[in-house]
Amino acid sequence: MIGKALIVVLLAVVVYQTLQIQEYKQQLDKSVGINSSRNTEQVSSKTIIHDEKSKAENTDSTIPYSTFTAKHYDSILNILGGDQSRLFSTKFGPKDDNQTLTVEKYTIDASHFHRGKADVVVFPTSNEEVSKIMALCVNERIPIVAQGTLTGLEGGAVPYEGGVALNLRLMRSVIRIYEEDLQVQVQVGIKKSELNEYLEKQGLMFAVDPGSDSSIGGQLSTGASGTLSIAHGTIRENVIQLKVVLPDEQGTIITTKSRALKSSTGFDLTHLFVGSEGLLGIIVEATLKIIAKPSKVLASRVIFNTISEAAKTVIEIKSRGVSQMARCELINKYGIMAVNKLFNRTYETKPTLFFEFHGSDEASLKVSSTIVQEIAQKHNGYGYLATTDENEQKEVWHARRNVYYAAFRLKEGKKGDVKLYVTDVCVPISKLAQIIEVSEKEIVEFNEKQANAGNFTLPPAIVGHVADGNFHFMIPYLDSNKQELEAILKFNDELVQRAIQLEGTCSGEHGVGIGKQGGLSIEHSPEAVELMRTIKKAIDKNQVLNRGKVFPCCD
Ligand SMILES: Cc1cc2nc3c(=O)[nH]c(=O)nc-3n(C[C@H](O)[C@H](O)[C@H](O)COP(=O)(O)OP(=O)(O)OC[C@H]3O[C@@H](n4cnc5c(N)ncnc54)[C@H](O)[C@@H]3O)c2cc1C
Repeated sequence: MIGKALIVVLLAVVVYQTLQIQEYKQQLDKSVGINSSRNTEQVSSKTIIHDEKSKAENTDSTIPYSTFTAKHYDSILNILGGDQSRLFSTKFGPKDDNQTLTVEKYTIDASHFHRGKADVVVFPTSNEEVSKIMALCVNERIPIVAQGTLTGLEGGAVPYEGGVALNLRLMRSVIRIYEEDLQVQVQVGIKKSELNEYLEKQGLMFAVDPGSDSSIGGQLSTGASGTLSIAHGTIRENVIQLKVVLPDEQGTIITTKSRALKSSTGFDLTHLFVGSEGLLGIIVEATLKIIAKPSKVLASRVIFNTISEAAKTVIEIKSRGVSQMARCELINKYGIMAVNKLFNRTYETKPTLFFEFHGSDEASLKVSSTIVQEIAQKHNGYGYLATTDENEQKEVWHARRNVYYAAFRLKEGKKGDVKLYVTDVCVPISKLAQIIEVSEKEIVEFNEKQANAGNFTLPPAIVGHVADGNFHFMIPYLDSNKQELEAILKFNDELVQRAIQLEGTCSGEHGVGIGKQGGLSIEHSPEAVELMRTIKKAIDKNQVLNRGKVFPCCD
């Protein structure tokens, strides 16, 4: 009897050890890139620069990560208090279509072609849950990526190496308004529209206005900006304090800085996390600056024959310091063409500048608008239209507000097959006309050759936050034809090189994610990139947070 029991125990030990060895081998394989669990369908943007060098430099991938098991699933379910409705997986737990659909939905962002896979998608509702899940991931070496609304355009929130996709959208309360200080404390899963809807009732607004209805957490993590940044700055200038869950064994929660507008104490940890793309911690709360809603708004637009004339106008407006200018945006002729097509309009298909002036009295707004009109006329701008009427303003800005969605229409294709690639370079404003003109010409010439040969073309709509020197080509392509995306990625590589040569950046506001990794290494010196890696390794010792992003690694 005792002998039989001993044999059973011995067999169990052998089986256990075999399984352990298999798991260790899997981890080792992953660490050296064999049979990696990474599952991107990314069409390689790796035509870009410094790739080989980056691989050699890669030290992050030497840290293996563990296979996600049923034990991990049960631990997370336990952290969620057994609430199955906030945990999704195709491998563990209930088997239904909702699991598959949810996991698919949260493994892709608005870039579309960066696709990953997650073992679980989790929706926490409290800082404590985020902290416990983080601690679990650190202790068990499970990859984890924070997500907001997944409107990112560089694959930043895509779970690249499996593990946990932690979506913050259920954490979206306004915690407190400090009216006298003009500050608001929020849970960062809140979207732009939700926050402004709340503030509007009190005559207030949050002055970072990206084109997407994205989460505050996503905006903070990408260093986002919007059309109001000329007057109120980017999200960097509008954040005061953060609450962040750190990637350590306890899932420690820290608060950065105080609510004071100025402080000379210690390192600026708030801004360390801004633009860190979920690599250093998971932001759970933020205290943000807010402003009183402007009581008067004047909107205007003016047409130009060339981008260069439009850009010169903006440079002169900026150097003259025209007061009360709150927005200044550009659309090229292809962008206008797209809006005309989608909305059946007849806007003149020429480069067009759009302005908004904010203030408390109409008369002074009109003075500013007249100065802008005069400057525009000096640079051959014509058809200046200005209005303080709310309904007319909507019409004046109609093309600018709708150009992203209209740009899809520049390409004929089956429903769902037409996708949009969005570039994001930013240069000193003095170089803006040069880079737009050269790049637009390049793609127009490419299209002419392609059209002559009966091949596909790439319609180049442009929208520009021109007063910041930041602009986006929005190029529609057919997903079913791989060559189209390859051609766009090649064009983007050249655009990035050009921007950096002109002392600019490969990303003005969308971040690095997966798509701009090559650009990061040419924009910054190897020493600067190494310092960034050092910071990452010091904070995220087990390398669990948003693996495979920002730094060219893990190939
Ligand atoms: C139509 C359209 C218009 C756009 N216009 C603009 C624009 O005008 N300006 C602009 O800047 N961008 C714009 N974008 C890009 C995108 O909306 C921004 O990058 C936005 O900030 C992403 O927010 P999100 O909540 O969708 O983040 P996600 O895409 O979910 O995540 C983006 C990154 O942030 C990280 N992250 C998210 N939440 C957290 C958190 N709580 N803690 C730590 N890390 C986190 C993710 O890991 C990822 O790296 C636009 C996109 C679209 C589709």
